[in-house]
Amino acid sequence: MRSVKEIEEEILAEAEKTGYMLNPDKDIRESIIEGLSINEDRLGYWSCPCRRASGNRMADFDIICPCEYRDPDLKEYGRCYCALYVTQSYIDKGLPTDPIPERRPEKKIIKYAESSNIDDSQKINEKSGKGIKIWRCQVCGYLCARPEPPSICPICRAKKERFEIFSFSIGQ
Ligand code: SF4
Repeated sequence: MRSVKEIEEEILAEAEKTGYMLNPDKDIRESIIEGLSINEDRLGYWSCPCRRASGNRMADFDIICPCEYRDPDLKEYGRCYCALYVTQSYIDKGLPTDPIPERRPEKKIIKYAESSNIDDSQKINEKSGKGIKIWRCQVCGYLCARPEPPSICPICRAKKERFEIFSFSIGQ
């Protein structure tokens, strides 16, 4: 697995080249990039760490970071859904932690969640204790795939105890 630092450098270089800004809050930024790193390792692509991936690259195409929804969200809310990318005006407002609405069409979320091409045998279960769980912040709905929930939600700052298992992700 590539380190968070390596991926951060790659994203930062691309952002600088294209005129985008990353969240200046180190904890938030690193937590989201850690999610990307985990998804790179388990899926082979940067599926958005705040959304549930199907495991099918084509079906997840719109949520591969930077996702299709980044630019309209930056324009309307000053941040992307995960708050990895932000605008200067969002920074000037003190990086508000209120979650923003999901722009991905609901039919895609349902369709792709149901049509996942991940074989059942690849899915982890509680008994095996293997693989990565998807955790959901009960306060703001932030999703992340990782062995343990983050100590603090990068979106709303809720503590680790406020996370619950949302579902089981694909195995490793
Ligand atoms: S919401 Fe942000 S972090 Fe998530 S895929 Fe889109 S641009 Fe990347």
